[in-house]
Formats: sequence, structure tokens, C-alpha cells
Amino acid sequence: MKILVANIGSTSLKWRLFHFVGEQEQMLHKGGLERVTDYPQAIRTCLEQLQQAGHIQHAADLAAVGFKTVLARGITGCVRLDERVLQAMEAFNSIAPAHNPPYIAGIRLFAQAMPGVPLVGLFETAFYQWASPAAQRYAVPESWYDLGVRRYGFHGASHKYIAERSAELLGREDVARRVRQLYVDGGTTPVRSPALRVISCHLGGSSSITGLRDGIAVGNSLGMSPQSGLPHNNRVGDLDAFALPHVLRQTGMTLEEAERQLCKESGLKALSGGYNDMRDITARAQQGEARAQLALDHFVHAIRHWIGAFLVELNGADALVFTAGIGENDFGLRAAVCRDLDHLGIELDPALNQQTRAQEAVISSPHSRVKVMVIPTNEELVVARETRRLLIKEQEGLS
Ligand code: ADP
Repeated sequence: MKILVANIGSTSLKWRLFHFVGEQEQMLHKGGLERVTDYPQAIRTCLEQLQQAGHIQHAADLAAVGFKTVLARGITGCVRLDERVLQAMEAFNSIAPAHNPPYIAGIRLFAQAMPGVPLVGLFETAFYQWASPAAQRYAVPESWYDLGVRRYGFHGASHKYIAERSAELLGREDVARRVRQLYVDGGTTPVRSPALRVISCHLGGSSSITGLRDGIAVGNSLGMSPQSGLPHNNRVGDLDAFALPHVLRQTGMTLEEAERQLCKESGLKALSGGYNDMRDITARAQQGEARAQLALDHFVHAIRHWIGAFLVELNGADALVFTAGIGENDFGLRAAVCRDLDHLGIELDPALNQQTRAQEAVISSPHSRVKVMVIPTNEELVVARETRRLLIKEQEGLS
């Protein structure tokens, strides 16, 4: 079974082709196009590259195309992307302005380019369906909740990958199996005790932290929108709701301009004085630039805040995992996050931490009660796996 996973940006198309034979999985091809102006042509180029590499003869050789969709009104999980789902995504465009509109347009173009090939979306919100009602609410009037004002949580594909992989690495195949079956049986696969408690830190262009009990998310630092939680490269992170009316009234700024500034001119970029790549921020902080140092310190402060929240929620942790571009590579940031946490059982091994870049490793000292780990994430693989499971479930339902 060959499954293409397409990652749609407003001006980019990236893809990976996976091949599943039984439980064996293999990535056959990886490619991408930047500065795309003609999206239908980009999709044709993608198919041509797969044909030239000999992986497919025509689009119909694909069992499905999977997408890492962000959120939709009233719909989550791993689902077929039919018109009803696309309209539900459209209804939430204003919550994910940088993500939903290009995805909806791109999915429609894929549907035109390869009619008959199933298009499947794994929603980034799907992983949080089983968090407690208390963790999913804001304290707003019921009428706001009815409009969709609640905590959803995002980065579900990445945190699900970490949930499964950390369980495997920690010798808890029972928990890994539960995570694999999550969207098939709703988390009812039994696990043994004691509970496995993991805190997963996805730190990249956008960042979030999730607490995992026996592989199931108890919450996520991202709330209603992908602009919340930790500060992101250029998106704001958590902000008091009363900041917005205050700024609009004081300046006469339009709502659209305020949205743009919160989405594109905020986060680490705003604090550091214009840099949104952690490598630039760190280099400038090392040269003594106070604003870059403030951006770093604020980021670390926010990460520790959320780790603390999940440490309490989970009654401690067996593992603290770092992943994504910053988490996998930036040993200085990992050291800053883990500083002075020995009373909570978190002690890094400085040498192991420093030598670990983008590879699976335990970076805590042997007597650290909490294992600190680096696990490179693989969101596309999660999308491909769930797409395959959906197709199998559908086939079994028919037979
Ligand atoms: P996203 O998919 O959200 O864009 P990634 O997980 O690819 O994010 O992470 C991208 C970010 O990772 C970059 O913006 C950069 O700040 C950071 N990054 C990548 N490599 C390094 C590194 N060696 N040291 C520090 N930060 C890094």
C-alpha cells in the first residue's frame, strides 16, 4: 500500500511517499517545492517525480493521500476529506488563518488532480479528544463555547509519535500498542500499571508541550488556536484577552492589522528585535544583545511553566522528551530548561546533552529519576500510518 503525505504551505508543497507491506513500513521518496505560484502545476510535478523515480505509474497507484490538517468545526480524528469536512475547516479559517486556507485550497486541487484517490486528513487536534473536560475549557459564557471557544491542542501528530516512540524506548510495549490503536479503538487497549508519565516538548518554528499518561494526552499548551501557548517564531503565544481591545482602542488599529501583528510580528521575533530563527537569536545573545537574551529567557520561562503544569498533572514524570528543530538540536536551550530541577528528579548529563543532535538518545545522568530524552519526531509517518489504519478499518467495515 503506497500512501503519499502532502504538506501544504501557502507557497510550498512538500511530500513523502510511504510504502506499507504488512507491518513493514518504508519511506520511498521525499521531495518538495518552494516559492510555488502555480499549485496545480506543483501537484503535477510531484506526481511526475514519483513516476520518474519508478514508484508509481499513475496517480491511481496511490492508496491515498494523507494530510496533516489543523482543525475543523465539530470534526476531528482521522477522516476522509470530503466537502462536508472542507466546509467545517473553512468555518474555522479565522482560528488558523495561516494554516486552514492554504490546506483547503490545496486539498481541492489534489481532488481535481487525482479523482478517485482517497484524500484523508489527520487533524492536529485529534490527539486531545481524551483530555478531561476541565482541560478542554476556557471560563467563558456557554454561548462562546458554542461558537468553538475552547482549548483544542495542536501538534497532535508529533506528540503522538513521541507517545509511541518513548513508550517503545522505555520498554512499555503495552503503552505503545495503545497509542497505535488510539484512533481505531478510542484508547481502550488495556495497559498494565504503573502508569507511564511522559512530558513531550515539541520546540520548533511553532512549539507546544503535552503531558502523556499511558500514551494519552492530558492536555497541550496550545489552546484554541495555533497562535497560543508558548511563544512561537513569529506568533504570539499566550496573551491576556484584554490586551486586544486595549490596543485597538488606544491606537485605532484595525482588527485585521492586530491579527497580522499577532500572527506574523510577535513571538520570539518581536522580543528579539526581528529574529525568528533560534540559531540567530542564540548567536546574538552570545554577543551580548539584551533583546535576544530576553527572547531566550522568555522562551525558557514559558517552557518551564508548562513542564511544571504537567509534572503536577501527572504526579511526576518518567521521561521528559525534547523534539522538533530546536528541541532536537539546541543543547544550550535544553540545559537552560533543565537547570536546577534536581529536586524534581531531572538531572542532565552535560556531555551527553552537548553531543546529542537530531538523534535518539537519553541525555540525563544515570541517577536522574526522570529520563531526559531526545527523540526526532516524524509527523508525516504518523499521518501515513493513520491514513492506512483508516483505509483498513473502512475495508473491514465493508467485508
Ligand atoms: P517547524 O516545522 O515548526 O517549522 P522545525 O521543527 O523544522 O519547525 O524547527 C525549525 C526551527 O528549529 C528553526 O526555526 C530553528 O529556530 C530551529 N533550529 C533548527 N536547527 C537548529 C539548531 N541547530 N540549533 C538551534 N535551533 C535550531
